[in-house]
Amino acid sequence: MLVLAIETSCDETAAAVVRDGRTILSNVVSSQVKDHAVYGGVVPEIASRKHLETIPAVVGEALRLADVTLDHVEGVAVTQGPGLAGALLVGLSVAKSIAFARGLPLAGVNHIEAHLAAIFLEREVAYPYLALVVSGGHSHLYRVDGIGRCTTLGQTLDDAAGEAFDKVAKLLGLPYPGGIEIDRLASAGDPDAIAFPRPLLHDGSFNFSFSGLKTAVLSAVKKQGIPEGEKLADFCASFQKAVCHVLVEKTFRAADATGIDRVVVAGGVACNSALRREMAHAAAARGVELMIPSPSLCGDNAAMIAVPGDYYLRCGEQGGLALDARVNWPLDLLGSGREG
Ligand code: ATP
Ligand code: MG
Ligand code: FE
Repeated sequence: MLVLAIETSCDETAAAVVRDGRTILSNVVSSQVKDHAVYGGVVPEIASRKHLETIPAVVGEALRLADVTLDHVEGVAVTQGPGLAGALLVGLSVAKSIAFARGLPLAGVNHIEAHLAAIFLEREVAYPYLALVVSGGHSHLYRVDGIGRCTTLGQTLDDAAGEAFDKVAKLLGLPYPGGIEIDRLASAGDPDAIAFPRPLLHDGSFNFSFSGLKTAVLSAVKKQGIPEGEKLADFCASFQKAVCHVLVEKTFRAADATGIDRVVVAGGVACNSALRREMAHAAAARGVELMIPSPSLCGDNAAMIAVPGDYYLRCGEQGGLALDARVNWPLDLLGSGREG
């Protein structure tokens, strides 16, 4: 099935054309990062307005690059949640309009399910698998038994991993969004220079907590000021190591506990070079198969929306014009209230 997918849950306006939920014909992402950078974070009102301004061109470009027209499109998939209400509504309205005008089936997709299914755009994965989703709003560990069949094993009790990266970067006076900047600076630093705490490492659960780590960074900065040069690199590398240590350890403990030897890491923080490296080391040491999408498919994009979208459209689970934004939508509730 040829699917047009639309994603506007946060600060990326994205559209893609994907065949059979596997083959990307186009994947256009227009980032609003520079519109929010001056505020040091995403401003919901600005996000909605920018989506409105950008989405016609982004959808047009996705069709053009795929060398198709709406006449060829057989179904529409759109992010229904979770995300910012106003931002989601822009994508939903456009998707509904196209579906209505063209008489096409429409499927609402959970953004987090799309993150953990993005890997299928590059390779097949057997079920069940464990998925660590680390992004701006999530640090969740799931057992995945199929599309629409995800169980939460653990989650962050406070900040998400991406949020921790971004907040710590802000404390260090680095430009927004800070995750990528910390990753860059850390590459020249000593990850063992500072012993930052490893929250919940030994609590026996699969939950995470990153706010204590942020507080440790804050008190270090208050005591010594913002580090510079080599010290800044050491600081970033040490912080990054602390985050990665907990993520890696809990993920592979979940693999041990469940006996599932396939691990997928997804979401924007899966771009982090130390996390990719540490995950690979741990997987090799334990004989676990590790799968991480290419960086362009880890961050927000619309092609990933087409993976579950294609499945739901083929199942006949069509949202129709009643589809409404679901600002909070835990994956365990997939299938319940899909129609809005
Ligand atoms: P969610 O998916 O939970 O709704 P989101 O869509 O805003 O949130 P993503 O776009 O998946 O999140 O990921 C963005 C996050 O990834 C940001 O916090 C960003 O700092 C972080 N990030 C991106 N690249 C890196 C990197 N190289 N190292 C660390 N963090 C990174
Ligand atoms: Mg984003
Ligand atoms: Fe995301």
